[in-house]
Amino acid sequence: MSNNVSDLLLDGNVAAQLLQRIFVPDITLAKIRCDSCDCVSGVGALTLDASPMGAVLKCADCESDLMRAVDTPRGLWLEMTGARCLLF
Ligand SMILES: [Zn+2]
Repeated sequence: MSNNVSDLLLDGNVAAQLLQRIFVPDITLAKIRCDSCDCVSGVGALTLDASPMGAVLKCADCESDLMRAVDTPRGLWLEMTGARCLLF
């Protein structure tokens, strides 16, 4: 085992296999923890506020915004600052 910290710093490509396990499965089966009220809900049970600008998924308990998804000509954006974590 190396004691050199720089040996542990790799680029993001090395995490691809782990990230595919997180993002490829059915997202509606994942659990999400609200950063505001700390409750845990199934993503499929969240309230959706749909608009032409995109989709906002809200906490079922406190109605805080957990996830915002927008499809733009420059790419698909996902913002999750209202969520503490996702569990798959
Ligand atoms: Zn909440």
